[in-house]
Amino acid sequence: GKWVYTFGNGTAEGASGMKNLLGGKGANLAEMAGLGLPVPPGFTISTEVCTYYYQNNRTYPKTLKPQVEAALAHIAKIVGKDFGDKTDPLLVSVRSGARASMPGMMDTVLNLGLNDETVEALAKQAGDRRFAFDSYRRFITMYSNVVLDVGYHNFEELLDEHKDEHGYKLDTDLTAEDWEKLIVRYKERVIRETGKPFPQDPHEQLWGAIGAVFGSWMNQRAITYRRLNGVPESWGTAVNVQAMVFGNLGETSATGVAFSRNPSTGERKLYGEFLINAQGEDVVAGIRTPQEITEAARIASGSDKPSLEKAMPEPFKELVKYYTKLEKHYRDMQDMEFTVERGRLWMLQTRNGKRTAKAALKIAVDLANEGVISRNEAVLRIEPNSLDQLLHPTIDPKAERKMIATGLPASPGAAAGEIVFNSDEAELLKSQNRKVILVRVETSPEDIHGMHAAEGILTTRGGMTSHAAVVARGMGKPCVAGAGSIRVDYAAGTMTASGQVFKKGDVITIDGSTGHVLAGRVPMQEPTLSDDFATLMAWADKARKLKVRTNADTPNDAKVAIKFGAEGIGLCRTEHMFFEGDRIRAVREMILADDEQSRRNALAKLLPMQRGDFAQIFEVMKGKPVTIRLLDPPLHEFLPHTEQEIAEVATAMGADPRKLADRAKELSEFNPMLGFRGCRLAVVYPEIAEMQARAIFEAAVDAAKKTGEPVVPEVMVPLIASKAELDLVKGRIDAMAQAVMKESGTRFKYQVGTMIELPRAALRAGEIAESAEFFSFGTNDLTQTTFGISRDDAATFIGTYTAKNIFPNDPFVSVDQEGVGELMQIATERGRAVREKLKTGICGEHGGDPASVMFCAKLGLDYVSCSPFRVPIARLAAAQAAL
Ligand code: ADP
Ligand code: MG
Ligand code: MG
Repeated sequence: GKWVYTFGNGTAEGASGMKNLLGGKGANLAEMAGLGLPVPPGFTISTEVCTYYYQNNRTYPKTLKPQVEAALAHIAKIVGKDFGDKTDPLLVSVRSGARASMPGMMDTVLNLGLNDETVEALAKQAGDRRFAFDSYRRFITMYSNVVLDVGYHNFEELLDEHKDEHGYKLDTDLTAEDWEKLIVRYKERVIRETGKPFPQDPHEQLWGAIGAVFGSWMNQRAITYRRLNGVPESWGTAVNVQAMVFGNLGETSATGVAFSRNPSTGERKLYGEFLINAQGEDVVAGIRTPQEITEAARIASGSDKPSLEKAMPEPFKELVKYYTKLEKHYRDMQDMEFTVERGRLWMLQTRNGKRTAKAALKIAVDLANEGVISRNEAVLRIEPNSLDQLLHPTIDPKAERKMIATGLPASPGAAAGEIVFNSDEAELLKSQNRKVILVRVETSPEDIHGMHAAEGILTTRGGMTSHAAVVARGMGKPCVAGAGSIRVDYAAGTMTASGQVFKKGDVITIDGSTGHVLAGRVPMQEPTLSDDFATLMAWADKARKLKVRTNADTPNDAKVAIKFGAEGIGLCRTEHMFFEGDRIRAVREMILADDEQSRRNALAKLLPMQRGDFAQIFEVMKGKPVTIRLLDPPLHEFLPHTEQEIAEVATAMGADPRKLADRAKELSEFNPMLGFRGCRLAVVYPEIAEMQARAIFEAAVDAAKKTGEPVVPEVMVPLIASKAELDLVKGRIDAMAQAVMKESGTRFKYQVGTMIELPRAALRAGEIAESAEFFSFGTNDLTQTTFGISRDDAATFIGTYTAKNIFPNDPFVSVDQEGVGELMQIATERGRAVREKLKTGICGEHGGDPASVMFCAKLGLDYVSCSPFRVPIARLAAAQAAL
């Protein structure tokens, strides 16, 4: 088989379409080389080798070695240097590259091929001893860490000692002789730690590095990242071996990263950072504060260090030429790595750049307006869930604030929480429902789980492209990076800012849009939506067929949802209003009444309250459809608990508190979710359904009068298992509608329908549809009853189920399309067979989950209904389903 693909010198065996085989980095290196961009020559060992490696006890295919040798010779020919040559050695980098970019997951080794002899040759060839030994010490450090498992701290320790001895402050203070001496000690440390000398044979070095890349596919960090991002293990990683170019060859050399548009705002301007006389990871690692690429950005930032544009005008001009070409070619914003070696620009990587949701919207809308992509493509480019980021709160501009530090605005949105200094603790506190801000000097891939658990991330070191910044943007978490004035003391569990000491557990607020760090919990503000958002959503609305409604219980919810584009209410849970003010007392009277008359007395108190609520909601909705669900939860949720509460209800009812306490005990259930709830309440106490129906219809009459828009209320009966239940309740509702029409002297339209949330209802949907005018899938209960898993108790084991791949994902988050989905399909088909125009929708939490929305579109439902903040997400997902 063919395992190795070469690139360089204007040609390549691979191309960007071959990401599965070559990984993202390798495929794009090949593509750039093929486009004639200056890419150091190299080769990619395919992901198939990774697969082979793990299927064959960590061994390589026999023909790999000769293919690698041939590819090395190919590089050597292009650059005119030989690998391991003692007068003019070829040095290479070994870089991992999976199919989907996994930032920082796999480590790169630079300057491979250096040893005690070749370093001398490099010094002579470059005419720069310091450069050669600086490169060698970097190589020893990286290689030891990645391949030999000798951690960085070993070398940092030795370096710090050396600096102290000589009174040096910066790495740049060290001379060639200093590095030479240190290298001796580095090598001794390797022997001490591994029992073996640092490998001197370049070929041994190469195979060691290749093995380390494949090995790292199965390290804990990579496994965690794959789990969190849904990347299958079977994909494997590729290995890229590439001739070195040197950004650390003095003041005419540099290394940097650049984005073709601003990844935070989406602004159409080259954006990035670079460092003079530096190599590879220096920019990302935040060792020195990087410089701006463009002069405009330098002026805006107030930095006194020159921009690339000023310091290196020729390479800058070339960079502009290449980024324009790459963006046109890939038809998307590019994230690029480059190095300048003695005034000559080299491109080392390009990929579609990660961006904030705000930037993603702007870029998609701009690219469509620039004619680069179509409007539908723009709609398809936005990950529906990412819109959540835009709906994040920001700090109230009028709020009082005590600023304690400023860092870089690395990922937008504001967040407040308790300070924690390590990721395990962040995860622990999160599991206790506490909100935390993860504070680190810098983050590394080991912190992914902590970053996930935190509301926001604050680092004291690193730039806009540091690990913390990149990962936070991807996660949509607020992040302030490089707040350099904050001192973190991990051992003491404190941080010092503005002369103030903050302990673990103290609350701070960060604003990832401005870079501000504030003491305490600062009041926040609801987000405002940009024009780009409106534009893209309008394009999405044009494309979608599925309607989007909202779950709203109050007029205020309804208002928010309409602002987000809701086309109706799919679920109004009347009981959510029962806890407003002192209504709960009347509710308790109703529940605890032991005869129909006292129950009717209590219901009479509730009637005007419910009617008022519904009227307000109808007014807000201005004739848009509103589905109101009759009382659903187990009554015990409303029971009085304390003696004081019982006494209060007893006084109001003129009843004996002791008798009332007994009645409350009677009503408590072993299994309330499968108990006395849903339509069962209306079957046993029809007067409850009657009161609610009266409130709904009277409110409809009132609202229609007030707004002049006819209101067509949809009355929804919950937890039906059989047609007979529905018929009984529907009979009462219909009778009440007639009564209200007569009393008010008006006529109005209305519908009576049911939730489908029990497997039996789904199966008997044919006959149920004879009575029901609409179905609404209550997928929370339907999931619970189909799996026989209590949704309130699932948290303890669902995580294990998904981790062990028994469930592909949590069925309470994303609809189980196979099982629950089949029931939905059966119900839809059987219902429509009986009633052709049967309206169908979904009102479970799933209505705001993009994958579930797509599934609903496939089933041909009429609408989805979700919480107000997820309405835009559902609109976008519905559009993508139609495209
Ligand atoms: P990551 O995926 O973590 O970005 P990379 O393989 O892209 O890792 O490399 C890390 C750093 O090393 C980058 O800054 C990259 O530009 C630099 N680098 C990689 N290969 C070379 C090379 N052949 N010459 C010079 N710098 C390189
Ligand atoms: Mg890179
Ligand atoms: Mg339900």
